[in-house]
Amino acid sequence: MKILVTNDDGIYSPGIAELARLATRFGDVKIVAPDVEQSSVSHAITHARPLFLKSSNIKFENIEAFRVNGTPADCVSLGTHLDSNTEVVLSGINYGFNIGNAIWHSGTLAAAKQAVLLGIKGIACSTLAGKKEPDFERMSDYLEKTLFQLINHTEFGLYNVNIPPEPKGICWTRQSVQFYDGRIVPGMDPMGRKHYWHTIVPLEPAEEGTDRWAVEQGYISITPLRLDLTNEAALSKQLK
Ligand code: MN
Repeated sequence: MKILVTNDDGIYSPGIAELARLATRFGDVKIVAPDVEQSSVSHAITHARPLFLKSSNIKFENIEAFRVNGTPADCVSLGTHLDSNTEVVLSGINYGFNIGNAIWHSGTLAAAKQAVLLGIKGIACSTLAGKKEPDFERMSDYLEKTLFQLINHTEFGLYNVNIPPEPKGICWTRQSVQFYDGRIVPGMDPMGRKHYWHTIVPLEPAEEGTDRWAVEQGYISITPLRLDLTNEAALSKQLK
């Protein structure tokens, strides 16, 4: 099985090295990832300038790796163009959960979405990024089990995986849409100028059964997502 691995943190992120390492258990792996960090670029594609595919100067063990001057979605388009029989795209492991409404901004998830648009199974993986670096060794057993299940035993589609620092199990969830965690926080720079950060602020407790709830309980959250955003209830009212 051909597996393409990408991310939005850039090819230098330790998260992509870990995901590619785990992916080698399931098939032939190729890495095509942004040459600089592309977090929060969502599903942007590059259409007004050419993309270049260059060899990575990071050497991954027995894995062919390329860096691209583009977005996560660009990397998926380019990677699957080069390997047209790619069966799975893995994106991550992102530094920072992609849960609740954060998934609207996520480049990690957008890479998996781009795969699904192209007819390929897409799996996005994210973990908590606090003050300390993520301890990938602590999560690797459960993450490998999760990938095994998603790669070998689920149908074509889009899957959003979030991994707590010390997982104790795996939980299928829905997206938490109750709260929005993106806020503008003003501050002052060293020259006394007012500036603004778009940031994440702590939220109220999550609803049971959601992605946020699962990671708070210490479970790996798997949320199956769909690309059809049609509001069926509103549409059926209009069609009456
Ligand atoms: Mn990121």
